[in-house]
Amino acid sequence: MAQTRLFMCLKDNFGVLLHDPATGATAAIDAPEAPPIEAALKATGWRLTDILVTHHHGDHTGGIEELKERHRCRVVAPDTEASGIPDVDETVRENDKVFLGGIEARVIETPGHTAGHIAYFFPEDRLAFVGDTLFSIGCGRVIEGNPRMMWDSLLKLRVLPDETRIFCGHEYTAANIRFAKTIEPENRALVAREKDVAALLAAGKHTIPSTMAEEKAANPFLRADIPEVAKSVGLSGEPAWQVFAEIRERKNRS
Ligand SMILES: [Zn+2]
Repeated sequence: MAQTRLFMCLKDNFGVLLHDPATGATAAIDAPEAPPIEAALKATGWRLTDILVTHHHGDHTGGIEELKERHRCRVVAPDTEASGIPDVDETVRENDKVFLGGIEARVIETPGHTAGHIAYFFPEDRLAFVGDTLFSIGCGRVIEGNPRMMWDSLLKLRVLPDETRIFCGHEYTAANIRFAKTIEPENRALVAREKDVAALLAAGKHTIPSTMAEEKAANPFLRADIPEVAKSVGLSGEPAWQVFAEIRERKNRS
């Protein structure tokens, strides 16, 4: 069973370490900056062997060079973005397998936020590292792709098992919930999540990981094909990706 350690980096990025106790292998999922990752390694006593990169943005890759220099770890990155990411050792594509020690991840290409964005799914442990594609009760901005592409990427994540724990790139959950309530004010799962998140933040805790079941029940960006959601944005009967595009556009303006 893999172990995780979650911590904050930069302003609102999540840093996370994933550890395979059987082999001692430890991965950082993205590397926003080196110091908090070093602190987490020190606190756990784990040795960094791998960095698994989700996309090329600087707030996910800024710590790679420093960590690579110190730990000589392997850097795995999406094939189509490798030229924009430092020190890449191995590039991966859709459905490729990545081993962290003895545990296996499957690569899921999720373009939209960036053109080559990928997620890492560890089926045995039911863990998904989704970068800036899916946030808790939100999703990433569509920067290099288009809304239809992003919606298709979210659908590829939505089919993961309900109990999958979702680790995303940013602590945006409270703001995402405030926005989600403008789309589905009556959604009981959303209201329940709002309460949970308020309690977590008041206790100084992180709001993730959530589960895919929780996201499916309350995240409006995963619910664009539900008739009530389409209706709430005035797009009844329209294709789901257009409903998604409208929700994303409203969030951009919020
Ligand atoms: Zn990003």
